[in-house]
Amino acid sequence: MGGAARLPLDHMHCISSVTPSRSMPYVAACSPGMTKAGGTFPGGRWLQLSWMLTGGRMQLLGLLVASERQVWARERSCGDEDGEEGCWVGFCCSSWNQQHGDRGTCCEKWHWHLCTDPSVLLAVWVSEIMLQQTQVATVIDYYNRWMQKWPTLQALAAASLEEVNELWAGLGYYSRGKRLQEAARKVVSELAGRMPRTAEDLQRLLPGVGRYTAGAIASISFGQATGVVDGNVIRVLCRLRCIGADTSSLAVIDCLWDMANTLVDRSRPGDFNQALMELGATVCTPKSPLCRECPVKEHCHAWRRVEKELASASQKLFGKTTLVPDVEDCGPGGCPLCLPAAEPWDSSLGVTNFPRKAAKKQPRVEWTATCVLERRGRLGAPEYLIVQRPSSGLLAGLWEFPSLPLAPGLQEEQQKEVLADHLRAWTRQPVQTQSLCFIGEVVHIFSHIHQTYVVYSLCLDGDVALDAASSPSRWVTEEEFRASAVSTAMKKVLKARETQRGAQSGHAKGSKRKRESKLGAAGSTPTGMQLSLRAFLRAQPPP
Ligand code: SF4
Repeated sequence: MGGAARLPLDHMHCISSVTPSRSMPYVAACSPGMTKAGGTFPGGRWLQLSWMLTGGRMQLLGLLVASERQVWARERSCGDEDGEEGCWVGFCCSSWNQQHGDRGTCCEKWHWHLCTDPSVLLAVWVSEIMLQQTQVATVIDYYNRWMQKWPTLQALAAASLEEVNELWAGLGYYSRGKRLQEAARKVVSELAGRMPRTAEDLQRLLPGVGRYTAGAIASISFGQATGVVDGNVIRVLCRLRCIGADTSSLAVIDCLWDMANTLVDRSRPGDFNQALMELGATVCTPKSPLCRECPVKEHCHAWRRVEKELASASQKLFGKTTLVPDVEDCGPGGCPLCLPAAEPWDSSLGVTNFPRKAAKKQPRVEWTATCVLERRGRLGAPEYLIVQRPSSGLLAGLWEFPSLPLAPGLQEEQQKEVLADHLRAWTRQPVQTQSLCFIGEVVHIFSHIHQTYVVYSLCLDGDVALDAASSPSRWVTEEEFRASAVSTAMKKVLKARETQRGAQSGHAKGSKRKRESKLGAAGSTPTGMQLSLRAFLRAQPPP
């Protein structure tokens, strides 16, 4: 997804980097090319910072930018002849600095300070990685916590994988966090702390940095005139040029990259790329594009085609002849980028005829038996045993309840058998199949896997000697579990166990929940859990 609301994140970081005055209560507004009391700064952006009064005078305030993109911050006393209060800070790209020198005053009232801070580069990098496949609203909290914990490359390089996983837990696509940290280590240990500065080097040298991320970092942070192609850009470009061929094909993707690299503004590549992504996120949206308000509609072939159809329809209405088709509107299948002949232009879809994607592959279906192993803790609250997954593969290094893959089609008794065997070997304790209590089935969709966890619980008495040769394991309270590096799927499993416990205690009290508890014992899923078809059928009361 990439570009949606990229600017606020970028700016948010800049604000958090304004270190000398930590008393500022809030930050407002920014807009490219904005003019305020000191002139216009080509290629610059402005941020307005509100009240930063200390001892009757504005404190400054470094505003920072990565290496080559120098950042200028300015300060002023409050209550000057304009009667204005507040402080404005601007940062300008290197092209402005070249034009105006490294230090200067654009207006007598302002004192300029030059600050640099590579942490902004890290901020761009982290936000780009987090925003892959994830909505901005989800990312913001993770981003802020991450930057607070590891504000520099050195700090990130010194972090452990466990810490990274803990902070990343819930964000999905866990390998992204792991590789981000590996890349930071590489920059610090092998590249003398110096980030590669071109898209080519970024992609070649840093783990986890693909073509899109490399282009985004190089253009936004280093001003390299290179394009970016993410989901939003694909949509905009396909509509602009009526590209109807399958956008998941390599040939089409290469063509889109060529277009993006050709189109990118040479003097402000970062702004251009962000604007293009923003256009896709806010105007040229997947289902309801705002074509009439679109700033590039004059150049858009898809929109032109819709307009022609409308004009043709109205001419027909008045009995006039149909317009001659434009040579640009080649027929279906006319070239490798056109709509396929089998699925030609559909008038009812308008511009949303583009882009086209091949049908999604069906996700792989997998079954896993999971056991919530618990004991009474010191204060009577339950404690759970969790184990660490292998350091490679799906959910690498994350913690989970003891689990093992299940062959499809096993009956409940067979599932219990294999799970009991697994637990026996691991705990070196006799585990009776009948002591395993079925909780329900938890379904979790990974990007390419439809995973069903068949969840059981088992209460243990006293301490358990775990097989030292097995994966690392530990007992945790509920609170510790939530703070651990566990996946969203495991959080759902724990929720299912808690729901079952609630239902059971209701049953014990003879409350209304008694009936639900009975159903649970018959194999149903506790309230709020997603049911697989098999669990649903199993849950039906006998006729
Ligand atoms: Fe997208 Fe419509 Fe703008 Fe074309 S005119 S780029 S289809 S919003």
